[in-house]
Amino acid sequence: MSAALPTYEDVVRASEVLAGVAHRTPVLTSSTADARTGARVFFKCENFQRMGAFKFRGGYNAIARLTPGQRAAGVVTFSSGNHAQAIALAARLLGVRATIIMPHDAPAAKRAATEGYGGQVVTYDRYTDDREAVARRIQAETGATLIPPYDHRDVIAGQGTAAKELFEEVGPLDALFVCLGGGGLLAGSALAAEALSPGCQVYGVEPEAGNDGQQSLRKGEIVRIATPKSLADGAVTTHLGELTFPVIQRLVSDIVTVTDAQLVDTMKFFAERMKIVVEPTGCLSTAAVLQHVVAMPGKRVGVIISGGNVDLAAYARLLAA
Ligand SMILES: *Cc1c(COP(=O)(O)O)cnc(C)c1O
Repeated sequence: MSAALPTYEDVVRASEVLAGVAHRTPVLTSSTADARTGARVFFKCENFQRMGAFKFRGGYNAIARLTPGQRAAGVVTFSSGNHAQAIALAARLLGVRATIIMPHDAPAAKRAATEGYGGQVVTYDRYTDDREAVARRIQAETGATLIPPYDHRDVIAGQGTAAKELFEEVGPLDALFVCLGGGGLLAGSALAAEALSPGCQVYGVEPEAGNDGQQSLRKGEIVRIATPKSLADGAVTTHLGELTFPVIQRLVSDIVTVTDAQLVDTMKFFAERMKIVVEPTGCLSTAAVLQHVVAMPGKRVGVIISGGNVDLAAYARLLAA
């Protein structure tokens, strides 16, 4: 028996929960991007979201919808970074205790930020341990509710509110590009696109080294891969979710990949031309358009910039290279 799939109604309910709490992030345009692509490109800037990424939306929505009893027992989650910060911040805002299971090699800035928001961090080895098993053990010990990073109806619905805002602001689009790890942002965005911009082609973008989503879409079932190594540390998941995959399969036109070199080029473009700081994972969707992985001449194209949390030393090295 599987849980009910998220719907656009869930996205609408999430937008009500998030009203006045999450930032309604700006939509930017760039004449350089338009010139390079021949398209009209609209950038939805979730790097300006609270805690620096769209993950605040799903995390807050999921915790806000818990019962008082569940809230009292706290929440637990596993994350390579931004979901951890999102849960820590959302839990603090809602007066809920949060335990975060994080890889031992997570970027220092992300770990520090999570602890700064009041989250209690427990570490594991991302190449040898099963983070979901560690989470389940803590959950059994404390009675806390597990809020996974993507495979959860309220998380997916919350993530979908960014695309909902984009369509409300700029109107229908010919195409929407969204990065994916586990596919929560992509699934939620696709639900928003279906409702608000019928006919809009939704593309997922993932790192070339970790194209499990692309393989899954082609094969028609969830394909699992070994933990990939990519600069896009927010997208190095090993498989799509039981809830995200069916939504993606039904609504996403294609999943394409970009290389780490293309991510670095895109990061430089954002810094130099648009004057914004975007983390490598946040560059995925834009890289697919700017580097002509999918040609979009004459089209109105939306791109979700998913986050802007960089480790400054690593960011400086990549920009200088
Ligand atoms: C989590 C994350 C992603 C991937 O999101 P999924 O919902 O797992 O597909 C992409 N970009 C950033 C910045 C993230 O934090």
